[in-house]
Amino acid sequence: MNGFAQKVAERSGQNLNACYQCGKCSAGCPTVKWFEWQNHGVIRRIQLGDEEGLLGSCAIWMCIGCETCGTRCPNGIRISRLMDAMRNMALEKGIKAAEPAVMSFHQSFANSVERFGRVHELSMLVEFKLRTKDLFTDVGAGLKLFAKGKIPFWPGKVREKGRLDGIFKERARR
Ligand code: SF4
Ligand code: SF4
Repeated sequence: MNGFAQKVAERSGQNLNACYQCGKCSAGCPTVKWFEWQNHGVIRRIQLGDEEGLLGSCAIWMCIGCETCGTRCPNGIRISRLMDAMRNMALEKGIKAAEPAVMSFHQSFANSVERFGRVHELSMLVEFKLRTKDLFTDVGAGLKLFAKGKIPFWPGKVREKGRLDGIFKERARR
């Protein structure tokens, strides 16, 4: 296994050698049409060591972690974990996300969890809008949800937030 594949396998805890390219993962993926390659193609590229192509790809940012592929895989390979590992590797290397809006959502979501212990939709959406500078798209839908009480004004409380703070501090130290 090449060095890149080794790193992805270690960080994701997945056995890449078990993939025999049956394609069952690709057949069920709801976002594969926005990937550069189908899911089994992503695995093949990891095996071939295409670090540059994968870390700069849309695929790693368009995976929504739904686990459909992992459920379908006869060998139990969880592609969402491979995608997570590659996203983190891309961030660590300072590679600009191929899908900046997804990256902005990722950052807004993580910041909200760090601040409140769980996501607070209203402030997360405001941060997301400011990051993308796309202030008005979907505002109508957001207001309807707000009016129905689906987007709470105040963040909820969580127990033992200190434990979560510890996780974020540990992450920042790495
Ligand atoms: S379903 Fe599993 S074994 Fe088949 S191609 Fe996808 S990852 Fe490989
Ligand atoms: S976890 Fe990601 S790659 Fe797998 S089916 Fe869902 S979106 Fe597609």
